[in-house]
Amino acid sequence: MTHDVIVIGAGIGGLVCAAKLARHGKRVLVLEKDHHIGGTSYIFKRRGYSFPMGPLSFSFPGLVRDILLEAGVETGIDFKRNHFQLITPSINIIFSRPLKDIKEELKKSFVREQKGLDAFFLELEELVSLTADLHLWHPDYRLGSSRAENKESSAEANRKIARIREMSQTPCRELLERYFSDRRLVNFLGSQGTSPPEMSLLNLAFMWNVMCQEGVWFPSCGIHGLSDLLAGIVLGNGGEIKLGTPAEKIIISDGKAAGVRSSDGAAFFSEWVISNADYKRTFLELSDPQDIPPDFLDTISRVPYTGSELCVYLGVDPRRVDLSRISAQHLFYRHREDLERVNTPDIEDFENREFEVCLWSANAPGLVPDGKESLVLRVGLPYDQFSPFRTGEKRRREDYQGHKLRLAQKLILAAEHILPGLRSSIEVIETATPLTYEDWGHRHAGSIAGWTWSAEYERAFGRKLLIETPVDHLLMVGIYAASELFLGGIPTALQTANIAADLILS
Ligand SMILES: Cc1cc2nc3c(=O)[nH]c(=O)nc-3n(C[C@H](O)[C@H](O)[C@H](O)COP(=O)(O)OP(=O)(O)OC[C@H]3O[C@@H](n4cnc5c(N)ncnc54)[C@H](O)[C@@H]3O)c2cc1C
Repeated sequence: MTHDVIVIGAGIGGLVCAAKLARHGKRVLVLEKDHHIGGTSYIFKRRGYSFPMGPLSFSFPGLVRDILLEAGVETGIDFKRNHFQLITPSINIIFSRPLKDIKEELKKSFVREQKGLDAFFLELEELVSLTADLHLWHPDYRLGSSRAENKESSAEANRKIARIREMSQTPCRELLERYFSDRRLVNFLGSQGTSPPEMSLLNLAFMWNVMCQEGVWFPSCGIHGLSDLLAGIVLGNGGEIKLGTPAEKIIISDGKAAGVRSSDGAAFFSEWVISNADYKRTFLELSDPQDIPPDFLDTISRVPYTGSELCVYLGVDPRRVDLSRISAQHLFYRHREDLERVNTPDIEDFENREFEVCLWSANAPGLVPDGKESLVLRVGLPYDQFSPFRTGEKRRREDYQGHKLRLAQKLILAAEHILPGLRSSIEVIETATPLTYEDWGHRHAGSIAGWTWSAEYERAFGRKLLIETPVDHLLMVGIYAASELFLGGIPTALQTANIAADLILS
């Protein structure tokens, strides 16, 4: 056997795991389908502009720094805080601030809801403080020896664990509707935007902790820079990264992972297999069904992922567009607020839907030509709307380009309300759809943010960390290796990778 560990996928999760293992003397081989490392945590270039293929920023910078250090990244990385703003016809708020400031600001706009706001924020603060560091003490968020070490058995610990279980099974809508009659407030506090709240109380606490306490940050080396540093550690410690080498099958023998067969027919054998491909790809495509317990396969098929989006990347001349209404790197904007149509929205009616405007160049000025700016416009759109255009990997029906362009122009038109002059300022434009995300990250149905956030599926897996699998010596890493993004996207990917590496090393 030539390798101790084969990692399928050089996304940031796969690279962290590979780097830590290589650094500890394991013989590591990474098989990556694409011709670049980093997966979605990377950039692409168009005429002097570099745009993100996925993440724009992330939370828990301290934890990220610690995990990178454990993986061998010693380069100093600074982090710049990102701020978030919501503008609708009735709300204009920067909500990446301490919870008490948000409460006071909302009290000014929603005078009739003041009592409810006091009571709700009191509860929210308690929920946030209970959950803020749960990855450090709750046994469901740890594995192996670290789980045993940290398992407190006091009555107090049991009370906290029972409370977390209750939170994870309670839709946050119940709490919000108890305190507020104004739907706009229910939606904002339950989704940080204008969508009706769907998530559990536990996810609500995670979301507000990330936004208001931990903060959301951008690293000085760029998010793609983290992937570059990690790949350097893998290679520097004798590991190998094969780009353009898709894994086609995981070789399983007597219930144990034994290696990987790549699409060119080559077989690679190892003691451990780590998959950084998403769960549905790993078990519904890369494994033979007879090797996997049917009820496990059934859960994986049944539980949905988060949806996908349309994303318009723009390089602009700032002299031609008025950016003055943007007061944060991330603006969530909704031009009209037709509450009657919340349940039957026209998904192409971007005038009456929320979308994000990210001033990407504010984080990464080195990624645009001198004197230019770049914007990323994002709006959620379902994969099913695009799937008929897909005729194969990176292949589309003829009318796809026209469809994509029409949607991009509609989104830009809606964005003109908040960015006057936008159309005349555009120098470079690129558009990604759910089909693009399916081909870039190779995520099932172009999913973006892990498993569904809907409270409806809270109990589907019966556990939080999905790193261990029913197949011996097959581990999962990345954002789909946890049933919820308890630290947000990138830190959850890193945390699962770090835990998987520790399991192998122990
Ligand atoms: C549009 C978009 C916006 C996002 N925004 C944010 C954000 O702002 N903040 C945040 O924290 N997170 C965000 N995310 C989530 C983000 O993707 C993750 O946080 C992070 O990049 C996840 O890394 P990962 O290691 O889990 O997987 P991925 O980045 O998905 O990497 C998986 C890797 O596996 C490879 N692979 C798949 N199948 C195979 C195969 N058969 N053989 C070989 N290789 C294979 C893929 O090519 C890829 O390189 C966003 C994602 C998207 C798509």
